Amino acid sequence: MTCLILGAGIAGIASAVRIASKGYDVEVLEANQYAGGKLTEIQNEGYRFDAGPSLFTMPQYVEELFALAGKKTEDYFEYEKLDITCKYFYEDNTIINAYADIEKFKQEISQKTSENPNKITSFLEKSKEKYEITAPVFLEKSLHQLKNYLSLPTLKGILNFGKVEVFKNMHQSNADFFEDKRLVQFFDRYATYNGSDPYQTPATMNVIPHLEFGFGAFFPKKGMHSITKSLVKLAEDLGVKFHFGAKVQEILMGKNYALGAKYIQNNTEKTIFAKKIISNIDIAQTYKKFLPQKFSPNKILNQPKSSSALIFYWGMNTSFEELEMHNIFFSADYKTEFETLWQHKDIYHDPTIYINITAKNKVDDAPKGGENWFVMVNAPNNQGQNWDDIIEKTRKNIQEKLARLLKKDITKNIVCENILDPRTIEIRTGSTQGALYGNSSNNKFAAFLRHANFSSQIPNLYFCGGSVHPGGGIPLCLLSAKIVSEMV
Ligand SMILES: Cc1cc2nc3c(=O)[nH]c(=O)nc-3n(C[C@H](O)[C@H](O)[C@H](O)COP(=O)(O)OP(=O)(O)OC[C@H]3O[C@@H](n4cnc5c(N)ncnc54)[C@H](O)[C@@H]3O)c2cc1C
Repeated sequence: MTCLILGAGIAGIASAVRIASKGYDVEVLEANQYAGGKLTEIQNEGYRFDAGPSLFTMPQYVEELFALAGKKTEDYFEYEKLDITCKYFYEDNTIINAYADIEKFKQEISQKTSENPNKITSFLEKSKEKYEITAPVFLEKSLHQLKNYLSLPTLKGILNFGKVEVFKNMHQSNADFFEDKRLVQFFDRYATYNGSDPYQTPATMNVIPHLEFGFGAFFPKKGMHSITKSLVKLAEDLGVKFHFGAKVQEILMGKNYALGAKYIQNNTEKTIFAKKIISNIDIAQTYKKFLPQKFSPNKILNQPKSSSALIFYWGMNTSFEELEMHNIFFSADYKTEFETLWQHKDIYHDPTIYINITAKNKVDDAPKGGENWFVMVNAPNNQGQNWDDIIEKTRKNIQEKLARLLKKDITKNIVCENILDPRTIEIRTGSTQGALYGNSSNNKFAAFLRHANFSSQIPNLYFCGGSVHPGGGIPLCLLSAKIVSEMV
C-alpha cells in the first residue's frame, strides 16, 4: 500500500517515519526545496540561525520515532538539558534566572522578589496535575472518536475537570495566586507558547509550565534544525521517498474517495496515486485549495488564528556575557501589549523581546567572538497590515529597549540581518495568516474547534500538523503524527 503525505513539516516527516516503520511505502510531496516547514534554518555571513522553533521540550516524542524504527537515537540525534531555561529582564531592572533545578529557582525567587518561594512549588504541582488530567483527553488521543471517551484515563480526566480551571482566564488565575506582579507576568508568558493571549486563554493553559519545569527544556546539540535533518535521514533510511519542489495543486477525488494528488514540479504538472493520503499542509489551505468546496467545514476553518511573530536574525560581532541561550526582556505593561496585539492587530511600542542565542552552546553558529541573535517579538497574524512600517518602527523600539536594559548600545554590533514576518511565514510554510500555531487557544472551547485528524466525509484522507488536533508546537505536532498513523 502506498501512503502519500502532503507537506514535509515536522508532523509530515514524523508520520512518514511511523507509517514506513510499519512496512508501508511512503512518498512525501513538499513545495519547498527543503524539509521542515517552520523548523528550518537560515545561514548568513558565517552565522547560522534556527529560523523557527528555538525551545525544545518533550524530547521523548522524538526518541519514540527512533525506537519505533529499531534505531538508536544517538546514531542520528543528540540533545542536552539546559540548567537555566531562560533569563528574564524586567523594566524595573530585576533579573531572574529560571533555573531548571526547582530548589535553586525558589532561592532565586526569594532573593529577587517579594513572593513566598513555596508558592512556586504549589503552582508547579497544580500545573502537573492539570497536565495529568488533560493530556490523556486532549493531547494523546483523537478527541473525535467515541471509543476514546470510554477509556479509564479519559473518564478520570472528565470527572476531575473542575481542577483544570476552564472558566477563569490565565491572567486572573495567576494574579489571584501570586502576590508579586513580576511572577504573574512570568507565568502569564506561557500563553504565548501556543500563540494565545493570557488575558483571554483559559487558565487550563497553566499546564504549559509543567512541560518546561517538570519535563525540562532541552537543546539539540546540532541546533533545532537537526530535529528536521535527523528525522528526514531516519525516514529515508526506512525507504520514504521525498519529492522536493513539488507543489500540490489538487487532491484527486473519485466519488467520495481520495485517489491521489496533482502537483507541479519543475514547471511540469504531475500526478501521483495512493491508497491513503495524509495532509500536513495547513488545514484551511488543504480544503480551500485542493478539495471541492462541498467538503469544507467552514465553521472550523474560520476559527480565529494564533498570533504570529516578527523575527530579526542579527549576526553580532561581539559576545554578551550577561545573556543566556534564552532571554526575555519584558514590557512594562503586559496588558496593553496584548491589547495592542489582539484588539489593534499591531505590535506594541514597548514589546516583550525574546532573544535566543544558540552560539552560547553551539559555538560554531557564529564567527569567533560573535553571536547569532534570534530576536523575536509577538506579532498579530497577517490581516494585511503595513508590515514594512511595523518592521521599521519595531526594530527601532527593540534597539532602544535593549540599550536601556543592557545599558549599552547594541546597534553598532549588528553586522548582518535577516527578517521573518507574518507575511513571509505565510508564504514559506502555507500557514493561514502566518499563524505560528494554527487556531488560537483563546476560546475555552478551542480544543473542540480544531479539525480532527481524519476527514468525516472522505474515508482515506487524514490530517496532521499544527493546524489540526491537538495543536501547534513541536510536541503536539509529533503527537498528531502518532494519532494519525495509528488511524492509517
Ligand atoms: C518563529 C517561530 C517560532 C516557534 N517557536 C516554537 C518553539 O520554540 N517551540 C515549539 O515547539 N514550536 C515553536 N513554533 C511552532 C512550530 O514550529 C510549529 O508548530 C511546527 O513546526 C509546525 O509543523 P507542521 O508539521 O504543522 O508543519 P509546517 O512547519 O507548518 O510545514 C508545513 C509544510 O507544508 C508545506 N506546504 C505548504 N503548502 C504546500 C503545497 N501546496 N504543496 C506541498 N507542500 C506544501 C510547506 O512548505 C511546509 O514545509 C514556532 C514557529 C515559528 C514560525
